[in-house]
Parts: sequence; C-alpha cells; structure tokens
Amino acid sequence: MPDSRAERFADLIDHLRVPPDTKVKLARDYDPGYKAGWARKRDGRDLLKLGVSMLAEYQDRLAAEAAHGLLVVLQGIDAAGKDGTIRHVMSGVNPQGVSVRSFKVPSDEERRHDFLWRYQCALPGRGQIGLFNRSHYEDVLVVRVHPELLPDRDRHKRGPDEHLWARRYEAINSWERHLTENGYKVVKLFLNLSKEEQRTRFLKRIDLEEKNWKFSAADARERGHWDDYQHAFSAMLSHTSTEWAPWHVIPADRKWFARIAAGAVLVQALLQLDPQYPTLSDEDERALQDERAKLIAEAPPGAADDPFQADQEAEEPREAKEPQEATAAGD
Ligand code: AMP
Ligand code: MG
Repeated sequence: MPDSRAERFADLIDHLRVPPDTKVKLARDYDPGYKAGWARKRDGRDLLKLGVSMLAEYQDRLAAEAAHGLLVVLQGIDAAGKDGTIRHVMSGVNPQGVSVRSFKVPSDEERRHDFLWRYQCALPGRGQIGLFNRSHYEDVLVVRVHPELLPDRDRHKRGPDEHLWARRYEAINSWERHLTENGYKVVKLFLNLSKEEQRTRFLKRIDLEEKNWKFSAADARERGHWDDYQHAFSAMLSHTSTEWAPWHVIPADRKWFARIAAGAVLVQALLQLDPQYPTLSDEDERALQDERAKLIAEAPPGAADDPFQADQEAEEPREAKEPQEATAAGD
C-alpha cells in the first residue's frame, strides 16, 4: 500500500476482519459496543473526516481509471444503521460514481430466476462504487430463518442435514471470487447491533412521530427470532469470509463509531485497488499539444494567449505572499 495514511485505518479495522475458515460465534467473538478505547464521538472526528476526503479522492481515481469496480455489501438486522452508514460514508463522493441498491422481498420476476440473478443485474460498472443495502446474503439469512420462503424445488432438495445452506455459501463464495477475478473488489460489512440497542432504536421510531414510517410490525416480528438470526449471522460469517472477500464485523451500537469503521474499511479497499489516473501515450500527448497551439492561435487581440495559465501565474505569487501579509497584519 503506497499511502502512509493507510496505517491509521489499518490499526482501527484489522481486527474487525473475520479470518477465513474460522468458526464465528457472534456473541462470544464480537462486541457491538466496541469503540477502540475512544471515549467520545469527538475522538474519532479527525479520522472520519480523513476517511470521507480519501473516499472522494479515490473514487475520482477509480472513475478515471475505469478498470475496477467496488461492491460494498451491507448487512445487519433491522435498525442496525445501514441507511445512515451509507448516507454518512458517501457524503463526500461524487453521486455520479455511486449507485445504491436496496433489496426487499423478491418480486415474482426475481423468483423466476436463480437466487443470485437479481444481484448480478444490480452490479456496478467499472469505475463505479455500488452499495448493496441488504444483498445476496439475505438468501442465507432471512431465508434461513424462514425456510418457507424457499422456492418449492429448493425446499424439497433441502434434505435432513440442511446441505442447501452449504451449497448456497459455496455458490456465493464462487460468485464473489468470479467478481474479484474480473476486477471487482467485494467489501462486506456486517453491522453488529445488540438486542438492547435494537430495543432502544425501535422505541425511538415509535416515540418520535417523524420516525414512525421507519417502523413496521414486521420488524418487531423479526425481533422475536433474534436468536435464529444470530445463529444465521454466525454461520454466514464462518462460511463466507474468504481471502478474496472477507467480512468485517462493524460494532454498531454507537452510530458514530460504526460510520468511522465502515469508512475506514472502504478506504482500505480503495487503497488496495490503488486506481491510477490514466497517463497519455506520446502520441496522445503530441495531439494535445497540437490542440493547445491551435487554441492559442485563436486568441483575440488584447487577450492572453493562454488565459488559464496567466491566471495561475498571477495567483501563485499572491499565495506565496499571503502568510507574510497575515503576520504583518497581526503585528
Ligand atoms: P427493509 O430493508 O427494512 O426495507 O426491509 C426489506 C425486507 O425484505 C426485510 O425484511 C428483508 O428481510 C426482506 N428481504 C430482503 N431480501 C429478501 C430475500 N431474498 N428473501 C426474502 N426476504 C427478503
Ligand atoms: Mg425494516
């Protein structure tokens, strides 16, 4: 990694990454309230700002290079903060380079295809960052908790030892590997919320009128399956954190910490991709200089040959002088 800023992010997030082939037990292994020893939101403000500005810088390079794509997968139980994380982490980037897709209960058309089809159709193009708000992992989460959602043919094939889930993990791992080999980086963030913090956030959605729309009876019903979801999350993390597409478990009880950590993982991924601005061939460079000469020849009487360059030159000495002037004014 060529950028020394990377180390600050690595320190924060390296231990949030799930090593491949480990058996994860969420409640035992990851603390939803973790905050890296920081006492307050204020302690992480610099890193959040750095993250947002580096995301903007690297997104610009990613778009200019147009060779790689970044797929960000966000999972988490209701009220874990998926929408807020997207809003904050992406606050500084050019909207033209980003797409966000939310996945709900599959439509009839989606059901008529294999379970990965709708996600494949929603992938970002090269040069783009694509965010999946819920993702193909719903098919081993909500569907695992409610196997009645499976299409008939899968339900019949499931068998007594639930081989179906192992096959789905394998299909997902292979698909992500295929994407990786085709120039995509797959970043997977699991927002890890505690049951008590979910209770608080649900109550807030009920107590504040302007938040009522965010609450649904279905959310409360799913809360009743808390332990089943924790089990499905643990199994997902155990089976689908791979060398090519590892999971990061983001402590989500504090929104500010979750946003810093999520931003840090994205920055790290982009640093690893290390997209470069295209450089011109000698021929292209010569063509550019020919065009420049033509534009200079068009200068009307009295105008600078190259007004842009003239402005730049006028500004440089002014900028160099400014600090001295400020000191003089302060005396
Ligand atoms: P929300 O993200 O709160 O708008 O809710 C979307 C709902 O769609 C959640 O309850 C998800 O569990 C559900 N959902 C998403 N993907 C699937 C899927 N593949 N199968 C069944 N339900 C899904
Ligand atoms: Mg919901």
